[in-house]
Amino acid sequence: MTMLDSLRSIVQEVNSVKDFAQVLQIIVQRVRKTTDTGVCSVYLHDSSCDKYILAATEGLNPQAVGQIRLGANEGLVGLVAAKAEPVNLDDAESHPNFIYFPESSEERFRSFLGVPIIHHGLVLGVLVVQQAEQRRFDESEEAFLVTVSAQLAGVIAHANATGDLARQLTPELAHSNSQRIFRGVPSVPGISIGTAVLITAPADLYAVPHRPAADIDHELALFAHALEQAKQDLRAVHAELSDRLNQEERALFEVYVSMLDDTSLGGEVTVLIQAGLSAQTAWSEVIIEHIRNFSSMDDPYLRERATDVRDLGRRVLGYLQQSEVEEREYPADSVLLGEELAAPNLADVSVEKVVAMVSAKGSRNSHLAILGRAMGIPTVMGAMDLPWRELEGCPVIVDGHQGVIITNPTPAVLNSYRAQYHEEQVLAEDLERLRDEPNLTLDGVHINLWVNTGLRLDSLLSLDRGAEGVGLYRTEIPFFLQERFPSEDEQRKVYREQIEMFAPRPVTMRTLDIGGDKALPYFPIEEANPFLGWRGIRISLDHPEIFLLQLRAIMRASEGFDNLRILLPMISNIPELEAALELVNRVYNELTGEEGYQLHRPLIGAMIEVPAAVYQVREIAQRVDFLSVGSNDLTQYLLAVDRNNPRVADLYHTYHPALLQALKQIIDNANDIGCPVSICGEMAGDPLAALLLVGLGYRILSMSATNLLRVKAMLRQVTIAQAQELATTALTLPDTTQILEFLEGAFTDPDITRLYSPGTTRLS
Ligand code: PEP
Ligand code: MG
Repeated sequence: MTMLDSLRSIVQEVNSVKDFAQVLQIIVQRVRKTTDTGVCSVYLHDSSCDKYILAATEGLNPQAVGQIRLGANEGLVGLVAAKAEPVNLDDAESHPNFIYFPESSEERFRSFLGVPIIHHGLVLGVLVVQQAEQRRFDESEEAFLVTVSAQLAGVIAHANATGDLARQLTPELAHSNSQRIFRGVPSVPGISIGTAVLITAPADLYAVPHRPAADIDHELALFAHALEQAKQDLRAVHAELSDRLNQEERALFEVYVSMLDDTSLGGEVTVLIQAGLSAQTAWSEVIIEHIRNFSSMDDPYLRERATDVRDLGRRVLGYLQQSEVEEREYPADSVLLGEELAAPNLADVSVEKVVAMVSAKGSRNSHLAILGRAMGIPTVMGAMDLPWRELEGCPVIVDGHQGVIITNPTPAVLNSYRAQYHEEQVLAEDLERLRDEPNLTLDGVHINLWVNTGLRLDSLLSLDRGAEGVGLYRTEIPFFLQERFPSEDEQRKVYREQIEMFAPRPVTMRTLDIGGDKALPYFPIEEANPFLGWRGIRISLDHPEIFLLQLRAIMRASEGFDNLRILLPMISNIPELEAALELVNRVYNELTGEEGYQLHRPLIGAMIEVPAAVYQVREIAQRVDFLSVGSNDLTQYLLAVDRNNPRVADLYHTYHPALLQALKQIIDNANDIGCPVSICGEMAGDPLAALLLVGLGYRILSMSATNLLRVKAMLRQVTIAQAQELATTALTLPDTTQILEFLEGAFTDPDITRLYSPGTTRLS
């Protein structure tokens, strides 16, 4: 096997195990075999004592694991760690750093190659190979080790964050139920205290919780039934395809069916169920073990069979899950946890029972977070290290302000969060009183506070909070809830409801903005760079049949009303804008001319959400009735930070000086031309950012309904002159942190500061 093949198969094998200790063991075994050396060991950094501890070895005395401990610069391992680069020695004993550990039986090994395991600049450990005869490891061996260690670094960093690393190094912690703190991307503010409820993708072998069998005979019967159904499926597919399969392929089907027999997988699972495991647990454990075995085979054909075992495993698991007859009971304080929570997951739960949501994937502006915001449910996204599979039923606190999840909180932390929760309830009640007060600054200037909508629920909430208009109706949201493109009439009904609900207040309907992270289940788009790809208006112009139909539905929905505004997303050049405007006009003329509809001409606007549009504001403004700034996308494109990627979420700054300059340029140029501008990105709903926007000259802010009263309370306590002064100074500051510190420090009145800095519970 070539080194590349070995690497691939090591990665595959590592990916197919759940357990960190097992990962380390696989690494040392496979690396020793591939490099054909006497020893391979992994040393891991224990931050509690600042030492590198032997964590796994193949070749040294296994009793030495946990016993050999070296400080930075101590021994050869310490030297690798201190230098943060490989050390390659043909005669280790003659090196001044060499230390002899009797417990390791190490004297037999003369040559030494150690490479650091580095993640985000930190040395997390050292990977070492040693050999009895004196020789220098060659460049390709060194490169191989460096590559393995780079792969391992991510796994160790994850284990560190989940606490698995500490448990590996200090086995006494292994079964403790102590408090653990995980971090993600703060996505919807608020505090919730509740009980974890796992939302798993169906038929995910790796997400099956470890459960004992309540009734062994019942589990055996369920299992037999699931196997029979899977066999029937296979036979049916076989029959259907039989004339198109060659003999070899036909034989493969037979192998599958026989794998399910008692003498094979079926038998192994039955033994485990009889020993007291539930059918799902037993099945997933047996299958995972087999996937692992196949993945580690040298023969590429056999390695490929891991995929077949996985498919078979998922199929049977699917049947087992289907026969989970009991209806799932959701506690009244459900905190939904999952790998990639999405809108459809909310369909099974009654929303009143959901107090918080946490997703391991996604970020602040993902679709789920936008829904969470619309419903006011504290949400943390991108909690990549959360071991969500293990948390079913666990008490948790979700702090949506800091993006923190605390499992098994201590009484002190719990009390502190309860107090903070109470404070927030008091604030919410105080804000309720502002509902019917005018949106005026202290010196009497009216600021339009509009809302972003897409669901019926957020429209109702918006009206309840006194919204003065809809600055952004995301038409893609009703598209998500369908199984195919909605027809003209289906669309017309949904849009009309929105237009009618808010009339005579303005309603801004944005045309379909799919692509990026917003894929329709029935219109998948596979791209390497979806945010730079086929998105928004680009799709609409390439599919005029979809665009024209939508425009007809939108305009027909406004019959009898005069409050419709149409907004075009993702405009990045003038020809695109002109092509879209031409289609809008064509639809209007057809409807009012040939078809005789009595319609008011809608106002047409363009979104300013890509940097190119910022530089062309004047040209765009001359061609439309209004502009709307999409600061969510503008931030990601200006800063080159994917809005959906938790790895770079801490670089996604709406208070970045570059963004403030862009916002100023937009409003100044649009004002020159006399074109009204609104802003509908999430920053408009942040009380401090709203102030800054007003200071820059924005007079229409459109936000999630949940933020509306908070922003209103803020603006009612400042004058335009104060806001302008803050904006002027903010524009002179060189980085986000300074801008934020300046704005946060600008007020001392607790009635104001409580609007933007919720009491934080300090976590060590
Ligand atoms: C934006 O990009 O700021 C915006 C409002 O649109 P969306 O979040 O739907 O992309
Ligand atoms: Mg956008």
